[in-house]
Amino acid sequence: MTRGSTDTAFAPAKVNLTLHVTGRRRDGYHLLDSLVAFADVVDVLTVERGDALTVCGPFADGVPTDDRNLIRRALRLAGTPRAVMLEKNLPHPAGLGGGSSDAAAVLRLVGACPDPAALLSLGADVPVCMTPRAQRMRGIGEILSPVPMPPLHAVLINPGVALPTGRVFAGLATTDNRPMDALPDAGPTLDWLARQRNDLEPPARQIAPVIGDVLSALREAGADIARMSGSGATCFGLWPSRALADKAAHELTLSGWWVRACTLI
Ligand code: ATP
Repeated sequence: MTRGSTDTAFAPAKVNLTLHVTGRRRDGYHLLDSLVAFADVVDVLTVERGDALTVCGPFADGVPTDDRNLIRRALRLAGTPRAVMLEKNLPHPAGLGGGSSDAAAVLRLVGACPDPAALLSLGADVPVCMTPRAQRMRGIGEILSPVPMPPLHAVLINPGVALPTGRVFAGLATTDNRPMDALPDAGPTLDWLARQRNDLEPPARQIAPVIGDVLSALREAGADIARMSGSGATCFGLWPSRALADKAAHELTLSGWWVRACTLI
């Protein structure tokens, strides 16, 4: 979207509908098999000529504005300095890949398309975020295939605990290394989704038991499926329609947690 001399892009929250840990490489990286989708809950980036990074919005606190920020690292990789205003609407760290999605959004905005290895050097979730539609993600994030998927209606809840990704992976017990079941041709069904899992949920719950409370709250509010996304602590619940997800989100807001109804594509 162009507004005069500024360009605007949306960086949608990434949701891991499933996340199976299927092994570990010699270099320590975990191998994953994950169905990833994207929500209409977004960070907003506005880009113009210049070089500074400014952050505003409800989750601006704690977002680095120096070269630790993935937006700056992405622009450097693309060789296209820009001034960026980031409206940070997504909690972090949260298992929603907000930083990765911001990096991908700014790359799309400047028309840069670094090769997969360069994208991976920014973060395992950056390649999948370059095309924010349902995809199966394997390897360490570099093997991607589009997945047909009807829009899903969800509620996202983040209880406000910061779970460092490394600590959650470190708590993984030996997993059964099973990849996802074969995806139905027409895309994931509720039954299929219910049979898959997020292997990071048990270690994340060990560190932050409140995740169990969030999952119970989603189920009590009527979710067909409730599961954690990524390395947490955000969890999602699925509902049959957006109206029902909106209604559940309205009720769940009383919890005091960050609660958003959304549509996943
Ligand atoms: P993932 O699921 O990929 O681990 P996450 O949702 O848990 O991601 P991020 O939103 O990527 O977490 O943020 C993790 C940390 O990365 C932040 O706490 C912050 O220190 C740093 N960071 C770097 N760039 C950004 C960015 N653009 N927005 C937010 N945090 C960023």
